[in-house]
Amino acid sequence: MRLLILEDDPQLGDALATGLRQRGQAVDWFQDGTQADAALTGAPYDAMVLDLGLPGADGMVWLRRWRERGLTLPVLVLTARDGVEQRIAGLDAGADDYLIKPIAIDELSARLRAMLRRASGRAQAVWTHGELQYDPAAKQVHWQGRAVDLTGRELALLEALLMHPQRVLSKAQLQEKLYDWSGGEPESNTLEVHVHHLRRKIHAGVVRTVRGVGYALGAADAEPAA
Ligand code: CA
Repeated sequence: MRLLILEDDPQLGDALATGLRQRGQAVDWFQDGTQADAALTGAPYDAMVLDLGLPGADGMVWLRRWRERGLTLPVLVLTARDGVEQRIAGLDAGADDYLIKPIAIDELSARLRAMLRRASGRAQAVWTHGELQYDPAAKQVHWQGRAVDLTGRELALLEALLMHPQRVLSKAQLQEKLYDWSGGEPESNTLEVHVHHLRRKIHAGVVRTVRGVGYALGAADAEPAA
């Protein structure tokens, strides 16, 4: 998943971005609301981590503005320990969840997973698609009960497809889910390579090519015996 972090504190922002990247997420971190605002129109984010105490227009002002504009992205706000009223106001302004500083990255990561699960309409912690099972917390994939060993990017690609099981995603959209703006441009054929690996490691039909458009999740059931 691709995350947007808006946090002006350089130490905390860096720790959050680094910690979440280590946990396999693509992360764009901004210290300034105006930059985050511009980024929202430029990349397909799955969730936002928003600090409420920002210089200039604070996080609440931005959140209210974005919600008025129709932004449906799940948002988790970061608040100070004594900020009960701030938390209530944040939730009322359109936040989906909150965390109190100091932040434990593992807890943040778990709450983001829970928010995305709700956003994608799933109630179960382990996602099932045919004979495929994906546990986003443990980053484990099982196919027909057998564990499948995937790289971080392969996992991110599979997760992006599983999050939108009914949709065809263009190569550009998938590319944007896998890579943030920190690492430079990926090689042009890397997506095809990741798709090839998923088919080889899981099942030939697990990713469907939609000619001229992109890729979609395929049927994840074993072919009937000939
Ligand atoms: Ca702050």
